[in-house]
Amino acid sequence: MVPRVIFGRGSFNQLGELLAPNRLNNQAPFVYLVDDVFRTEINITSRIPIAYDDKIIYVSTIEEPKTSQVDELVEDIILTSKERPSGIIGIGGGSILDLAKAVAIMLNNEGSSEDYQGWDLVKHKAVYHVGIPTISGTGAEVSRTTVLTGPTRKLGINSDYTPFDQVVLDPELTKGVPKQQWFYTGMDCFIHSVESLNGTYLNAFSKTYGDMAYQICKEIYLDGSLTKKDAQDKLMMASWHGGMSIAYSQVGVAHAMSYGLSYLLGTKHGIGNCIVFNYLEEFYPKDVKLFKKMLDKHDITLPTGICRDLSDKDLETMINVALSLEPLWENAIGKNWKKTITSKKLKELYLKM
Ligand code: NAD
Ligand code: ZN
Repeated sequence: MVPRVIFGRGSFNQLGELLAPNRLNNQAPFVYLVDDVFRTEINITSRIPIAYDDKIIYVSTIEEPKTSQVDELVEDIILTSKERPSGIIGIGGGSILDLAKAVAIMLNNEGSSEDYQGWDLVKHKAVYHVGIPTISGTGAEVSRTTVLTGPTRKLGINSDYTPFDQVVLDPELTKGVPKQQWFYTGMDCFIHSVESLNGTYLNAFSKTYGDMAYQICKEIYLDGSLTKKDAQDKLMMASWHGGMSIAYSQVGVAHAMSYGLSYLLGTKHGIGNCIVFNYLEEFYPKDVKLFKKMLDKHDITLPTGICRDLSDKDLETMINVALSLEPLWENAIGKNWKKTITSKKLKELYLKM
């Protein structure tokens, strides 16, 4: 779990105070990985407490994080710093938070980040790392994984060294999020709670967090009675709870299939989950109905026919990526999932999307 967290509007201003005791020495910089969208956002950049050799690296999030990108960033940081950094601070959405976690791990572990995709492969503690989300939903701020696309698969580096040492939850930072993105990333949280609550791995720990995330998402995306500020505050907490819920259970069908879309077509996580979830009525009947109401209420039109023109070979690649995520299927369907979840079944589903 994340050992330290502060929450509150304006808490971003405390960053300098939080970091100071963790500075190793004047030559060991803090390196900020910041979403490129903030390059011209003075309100954010001017509040980053730069001192000594600290540096800001702006990162584009047009594509989701890759193992090669992590390796390049690590090399660049090592080459341009006098000493190993005091810390890595990620400021952005799930993409940047995951990059920050992966870079912090790879600064202290040999080889390429692709060698560590999987469960508990990391050998050494990561460099001190801090997560500051600017959009709510993925739960990447709290989770024990950092999802990367590598040459052969899209899979997280899941380890006890992955979670942030410190998280700053300042809902004010989410105010510029475009509406569509607010919907897609928020639905990631809704889907985390649905997949956790309806999974066979569920236990009391996960259920408590899942229930909370689920209720808050309904309040925000269906009831719609909250003020904008309250909705921002609450969505940040929903994201946290959704992440906590899956930390001790697993995600399910939507995530498994969305990883396939992402691997082959580069479809981003939030929208990919939405495209898939829309067709999962047989797995999550009540919640897919709710989801469709949310789409309606917020006037969101999802892309259609995205798999229609794919070759059999491409479909097979996508299906194999989805089927390889065995724990997700086992959570969703149960130990005997291979009896019902076949290539043919997934092909039918993908072709509807
Ligand atoms: P994202 O980080 O890619 O950001 C989405 C878009 O929102 C980007 O264009 C970004 O520039 C913009 N944005 C972010 N904050 C903004 C702000 N305050 N104002 C204006 N624009 C803003 O998207 P995401 O949905 O947050 O994250 C998706 C990524 O998270 C994927 O790579 C996925 O694999 C990963 N993920 C990780 C976990 C985990 O547990 N580690 C869980 C779920 C998803
Ligand atoms: Zn997700």
